[in-house]
Amino acid sequence: MCWFRRDLRVADNPALAAAAAAGPVVALFVVDEVLRGQGAATRWRLQGALSALSADLKGRGGALVVRTGDAAEVVAGVAAEVDAAEIHATDWPEPARSAADARVAQRLEADGRRLILHCGHLLVAPQAIRTGSGGVYKVYTPFARAVRRHGVPAPLPEPKICWADPPRSEPLPDLAPDMDRGAEVVARHAAPAGEAAARERLDAFLGRAAGYLQRDRPDRPEATSGLSDALATGEISPRTIWAAAERHLHDPARAQAAEKFLSELTWRDFAWHLLTEWPTLPEREWRAEFAAFPFRRDTADETAWTRAVTGEPLVDAGLREMFVTGRMHNRVRLAVASYLSKHLLIDWRVGLRWFADTLIDWDPASNAMNWQWVAGSGPDASPYFRIFNPATQAAKFDPKGDYRRRWLWGWDGSDSEDARDYFDAVPRSWGMDPADGYPDEPIVDLAAGRQRALEALATMRQAQAEPDVGPDGRASEAPDEEE
Ligand SMILES: Cc1cc2nc3c(=O)[nH]c(=O)nc-3n(C[C@H](O)[C@H](O)[C@H](O)COP(=O)(O)OP(=O)(O)OC[C@H]3O[C@@H](n4cnc5c(N)ncnc54)[C@H](O)[C@@H]3O)c2cc1C
Repeated sequence: MCWFRRDLRVADNPALAAAAAAGPVVALFVVDEVLRGQGAATRWRLQGALSALSADLKGRGGALVVRTGDAAEVVAGVAAEVDAAEIHATDWPEPARSAADARVAQRLEADGRRLILHCGHLLVAPQAIRTGSGGVYKVYTPFARAVRRHGVPAPLPEPKICWADPPRSEPLPDLAPDMDRGAEVVARHAAPAGEAAARERLDAFLGRAAGYLQRDRPDRPEATSGLSDALATGEISPRTIWAAAERHLHDPARAQAAEKFLSELTWRDFAWHLLTEWPTLPEREWRAEFAAFPFRRDTADETAWTRAVTGEPLVDAGLREMFVTGRMHNRVRLAVASYLSKHLLIDWRVGLRWFADTLIDWDPASNAMNWQWVAGSGPDASPYFRIFNPATQAAKFDPKGDYRRRWLWGWDGSDSEDARDYFDAVPRSWGMDPADGYPDEPIVDLAAGRQRALEALATMRQAQAEPDVGPDGRASEAPDEEE
């Protein structure tokens, strides 16, 4: 039996391959509390992937069995109905899922059955990448080198599947009723869901891969792959992407871009390696000294940030792009996160949760690692005093303002349709109207916000009377950096 979760594909799916090798296959998907606890946008995106997988399996003569309820009870119940001795699933060690998996395994064991978890969501299994002394890498560069030394296994071919008679299934559920009117807007902007569509996206991206060197330019959205939501739903495996991109390393016109792309994919693995070792990464500062950081509680500023009316154009453009498309350009994510945790001095977890609720590519490991990276509290993090200046970032990476005009209705004369869509996506209760235009004044002066952030850092350090040294013993650099 194969229990699908965030691995909604047939190719390079070790869990499905193992189930197929063991005998006739029952394909199960469970709508449980863990899934219901995830953000609205990611559930909405998962729904598309689920429908596509269901149609795909049907086309192959199989069926996806959907059941709702407590995972332990449902999986044990279906396993008993079809008398499956082994239940194969792809590991996805997000803390809530891992805790639920432990309960499922225990419940199955009581019935004499086994839950077998396979590593299908990463390039390399976390246990395989260890430092010389057997520890976990806390710094990206040596981690990436170790991944290259180890080598990324080739993707598995599609398995030959013999289908078992499927037990009763519920109709495909509405996983995200809470997306409300936003669903229609995001649907208009989203790429098609499903494994075949993800593969097409990969091929199209690789055809223009040389442009990846422009990946930091939000005004060039085609420069990046746009594959993160397909990875988050497991419509495509990272090993499939790796193998396809690796072939471009031999093409002198694309080698540099392909190399960079592979290194970004390795950041994703690094994030999961960290989360696997430190499951508290989404909740607690990895650098203990940051637990005492004097964040402000300011609901007005927090609301201005979530509603994308801070008056700081690059920040608001990114937040509006996210609300309309469920995605945000990486360079802008950095600026938006830095602005919240530094210029506004608001707890990074506020931003992490907002991203978790509004991103269709939500990935618990990448989200947590990146938020802690920006906030300065994570392993291999950017030093706290490295404060992104959103105006400088905008001038550098969106020099003509095309990105900001695309997402900010009324800014610099913008009347773009994408910018207009924001007002149809946001809840009516926010009372936002295009006629209000774009805010004239920023809620915080950038120089003053930066100064306040540096003072907060000094306060934290004074309270602890010790230098900013990470657990790996690397001292931070001179405190006067702005980007
Ligand atoms: C504060 C913050 C929060 C983030 N939250 C998420 C999240 O919830 N989900 C998510 O997938 N990414 C997250 N990222 C990372 C990054 O922004 C996205 O992966 C990237 O924008 C996706 O676009 P793409 O697929 O076109 O990327 P490409 O540039 O084409 O990269 C290919 C793949 O590499 C991986 N990757 C690229 N950059 C990073 C990175 N910085 N960290 C980890 N993996 C990376 C992604 O899987 C991506 O799909 C976050 C970044 C920041 C700064």
